[in-house]
Amino acid sequence: MPEKPGKRRGGSTSAVHGGEREHQQSDAITTPIYQTSTFWFRNSEELIAYQEGRLVREEYGRYGNPTWKAVERKLCELEGADEAVLFASGMCAATTLFFAHLKRGSHLVVTSDCYRRTRQFISEFLTQMGVETTVIDPADTKQLEDALRDETALFFTESPTNPYLRVIDVKEAARVCHARGVRVVIDSTFATPLNHRALDDGADLVVHSATKYLGGHNDLLAGAVCGSSELIEPVRHAVGVLGGITDANTAWLLLRGLKTLGLRMQRHNANALRIARWLEVQPPVRRVWYPLLESHPDHEIAARTLAGGGGVVTFELDTDLAGAIRFTDACELPYIAPSLGGAESLVEMPVTMSFWDIDSNERMKMGITDSLVRYSCGIEDADDLIADLEQALNAI
Ligand SMILES: *Cc1c(COP(=O)(O)O)cnc(C)c1O
Repeated sequence: MPEKPGKRRGGSTSAVHGGEREHQQSDAITTPIYQTSTFWFRNSEELIAYQEGRLVREEYGRYGNPTWKAVERKLCELEGADEAVLFASGMCAATTLFFAHLKRGSHLVVTSDCYRRTRQFISEFLTQMGVETTVIDPADTKQLEDALRDETALFFTESPTNPYLRVIDVKEAARVCHARGVRVVIDSTFATPLNHRALDDGADLVVHSATKYLGGHNDLLAGAVCGSSELIEPVRHAVGVLGGITDANTAWLLLRGLKTLGLRMQRHNANALRIARWLEVQPPVRRVWYPLLESHPDHEIAARTLAGGGGVVTFELDTDLAGAIRFTDACELPYIAPSLGGAESLVEMPVTMSFWDIDSNERMKMGITDSLVRYSCGIEDADDLIADLEQALNAI
């Protein structure tokens, strides 16, 4: 049952029902896994009707599959988008979007606090393609305004960002960008459509690593881009050529994961807020970053625009590298692993994980200190997570 125009269902309802009923079969409640690479035509007349656009149907697995179409419809309903495209990973979603919307001579504005591989794609690949980039501070509208040029095609940012959870005032960014004809693209992986619907605030396109909260169980990789039909059309065209599609089994796991998004986000939000407040008053903790803490630089924007702060808490310990490693190794409930947004809590130190191969001076300039920890709260009981954190802090 598609969402009725003008009447918006709650996010949890959309997460359960969005996109499902069109593709169910044999009275099954769940959408089947269409494990097929191609789709047959009854005769040439049917094929020609399809080619002429008189018949809407599947053709070949790179262009569409009913299982992943159900996910795309669900994401559309959740984000309030006309169209969504599903990808093999979040990186595939972002890079395909850049290929589709940038060309030689285009200018791109991005924020400094950003997923490592996205920054790498920009500095290595987009530079080779002849795209110039300006990097700005996440919450500085003045810097954004000053960075825009006649050739600027896109402003791309995460919100909240990684790892400092900076929050963008999307309405304000959209106002500034749209006045210059620039599109706003938000990587909403850390927010999910339940904590923030960026399109409602004026963003033109939303990107997700569905590997994180949308899948929610640390068991799949996928990505998505959502937006208006006009802006999605070139992205859909690009994925049909580049081929970074997901497979039907993964799409089905994502459909299943998404049904509990509402419940999971409530728990991620609640666990992280409690843990952030608790950490803030522990003597071995120098500083905590969480958007809904009064001490966070973007607290005002976060309190005004986000329905929840998400599951990630970043903090700096009052110790050196060895002490921070003792803390991390002493954590018993969370796994030491990259990623976030799953049922299981995960803990990592950026210095030993995603920033490992970055020179320490360079790293310090980025604010990634030796005792920085990123904790992704899962959906366990907060009391147990806090008891575990307490004994790990004592191990420093
Ligand atoms: C993980 C992540 C990505 C990349 O997604 P993959 O699914 O791992 O390719 C992009 N942006 C953010 C904010 C992420 O956390």
